[in-house]
Amino acid sequence: MKIIMYGTGNAEREYVKEWMEQTGNEVKMVTEQLNAQTIDLAQGFAGISIQQTKPLGDPALYQKLATMGIKQLATRTAGFDMIDLAACRDNGLVVTNVAVYSPRAIAEMGLTHAMYLLRHIGEYTSRMEQGDFRWNPELISNEIYNQTVGIIGLGNIGGATAQIYKALGARVLAYDPNKNVEDAPFVEYTDLDTIIKTADIISLHTPLLPSTQNMLAAPQFAAMKKNAIIINMARGGLINTADLIEALENKEIAGAGLDTLADETGFFNQKVAVDSLPSDYQQLQAMPNVLITPHVAFFTQTSIRNMVEISLNDVVRVVNGQHSRNEVRI
Ligand code: NAD
Repeated sequence: MKIIMYGTGNAEREYVKEWMEQTGNEVKMVTEQLNAQTIDLAQGFAGISIQQTKPLGDPALYQKLATMGIKQLATRTAGFDMIDLAACRDNGLVVTNVAVYSPRAIAEMGLTHAMYLLRHIGEYTSRMEQGDFRWNPELISNEIYNQTVGIIGLGNIGGATAQIYKALGARVLAYDPNKNVEDAPFVEYTDLDTIIKTADIISLHTPLLPSTQNMLAAPQFAAMKKNAIIINMARGGLINTADLIEALENKEIAGAGLDTLADETGFFNQKVAVDSLPSDYQQLQAMPNVLITPHVAFFTQTSIRNMVEISLNDVVRVVNGQHSRNEVRI
């Protein structure tokens, strides 16, 4: 089968080649995203895999795909909000996504941030740059097995995160309004307020919804322990950034590890001039008790391999008239 893979990243290429060798299918990798200008590249291909954040908004695009004999769109991402599902339904296109590619990838990055902050590595790094080798009582550390970790959102990633902290001997609290206690016997289920007030490390793993937007803001920061560390590997919008900066400046909390920021559109996976970045980002970046990474918690070899393989297997399945368990309900 001949498949076209839009938006191919360099990290994906070797896994695509392996998949072609294993399955005997042919994949044409193009870096362009799917849009009205690039749709003709799909001429003569049986299936399509995409990876993009830009919306596929134009209804004519879906009609054209159908006329070209395309039966599906397989996104290599978990999110599918860039696809017009109604237009897919109207044109008989099946949509698949990769909802779970490696919860451990994100969980391990969250732990990395937490350990960096717990052991004051940011502060020590700047002291090393100034030749300051003194043992400052303000920077004495805690050990992870003496910490209480609060997981907010105990889904795939929150669950993997809870398991790692539990294995390290920490006390793990969890809040998730949609989970049953028996789903994860290694955590102590509690309410959000208890996590806010008692956790030393607060790790966010909920989707960004109207109900979760700004779930950590001034009142929550004020109620936290002074040594609390916030870890956000989920979505920047879960935290009110201005309130976070104020809480850090006022020493209401001890630190923050952020893989996602509230508005990443201007710099998502791009190199930009530092002074063009939003001022709140620059303020956070300047704090030694803040660690920012560029939305790469997912970016591991396991994740990329799974995104490629799961998506391409789904293309083959759907084009051959079979069902995939990754079909998006439309
Ligand atoms: P999931 O659907 O498996 O789990 C989300 C959990 O959050 C669910 O159990 C749900 O019940 C719970 N939840 C919903 N509303 C809640 C609330 N108000 N309070 C507490 N819990 C609530 O999703 P997942 O695969 O674990 O992913 C979680 C989030 O991580 C995603 O939505 C995404 O935003 C983010 N993510 C980030 C990266 C990255 O690279 N940084 C990669 C993948 C996913």
